[in-house]
Amino acid sequence: MASDVPKAEDWLQVTREGLHCLPGDFYVDPARPVARAVVTHGHADHARPGNDAVLATPATLAIMKARYGAQAGRQHQALAYGESVTLGGVRVSMAPAGHVIGSAQAVLEWRGCRVVVSGDYKRRADPTCAAFEVVPCDVFVTEATFGLPVFRHPPDALEIDKLLRSLATFPERAHLVGVYALGKAQRVIALLRQAGYDRPLHLHGALAGLCELYEAQGVALGDLRPAAEADKAALKGEIVLAPPSALNDRWSRRLPEPVTAMASGWMGVRQRAKQRNVELPLVISDHADWDELTGTLDDVGAPEVWVTHGNEEALMHHATGRGIRARALALIGRGEEEQEAASQEEPQS
Ligand SMILES: [Zn+2]
Ligand SMILES: [Zn+2]
Repeated sequence: MASDVPKAEDWLQVTREGLHCLPGDFYVDPARPVARAVVTHGHADHARPGNDAVLATPATLAIMKARYGAQAGRQHQALAYGESVTLGGVRVSMAPAGHVIGSAQAVLEWRGCRVVVSGDYKRRADPTCAAFEVVPCDVFVTEATFGLPVFRHPPDALEIDKLLRSLATFPERAHLVGVYALGKAQRVIALLRQAGYDRPLHLHGALAGLCELYEAQGVALGDLRPAAEADKAALKGEIVLAPPSALNDRWSRRLPEPVTAMASGWMGVRQRAKQRNVELPLVISDHADWDELTGTLDDVGAPEVWVTHGNEEALMHHATGRGIRARALALIGRGEEEQEAASQEEPQS
């Protein structure tokens, strides 16, 4: 790097609000309301209500509007993948992150220094969103949710097959699958359709809105029906999708002898499945596993990596061993919330 090229830490700093770009005067995924936010994707720990101006992909803006209404931000600016804008001399563009619909890596360039803030991402194919794009950079900011070598997610087709085999084995029982409302629900539905399952899928009411939003964005999900409108007997041998919080509550009593399943990267941890009384854990994650995280460091070729939420230590150790400078980014709001989230709901797994 030439000496007149600025160092990333001189123009991108961690504050109480989040990662602040000084010359552009904006924050990426701020934890508190700010004047100008660049938002990587619609999950609640990245896209928060109450900002003044919000720059995000069209799908992320649509999700924020659906979730927050008037609180979604006073002024919305859509930036499609591949487009760019300049804010205070900083060029900002969006590259697909492969995490959920509309998810983007924020690509920031200032005076010859390029930083990619990847938000949350995964590398495997997902029929509901654009695939992660490798953007070579000087500094790569990465999550580390599953940043330990023990985390190796199986192929998702195998997990879907597990569900279909269970359905064939227990035709008298409903199969209740716990899924997060944004991303996981639609991906599980799309994977079932890919596997040739074309029966109606029955939805808990909390999932309907985002499924409609995906369909409006061009992701076909097939025949979806409100579970509340079906007779108990009619749900024998059928698949019902519900948010994880509904798995063990009164809502599930309407189902005939449900087999309780859950689709989450955390289902690879036996203890987590047990805690939720999950009989059929499906390891389907919207986050990169260890091989995807380390492979991505190789692919982007950045001499420096900043590691955010998750298991920072192991990934930093790995990076250092490969001659990459590594730094833990303590993003205040997010770190705390993700910890809390991990013990309760793991909202974005
Ligand atoms: Zn996320
Ligand atoms: Zn996250």
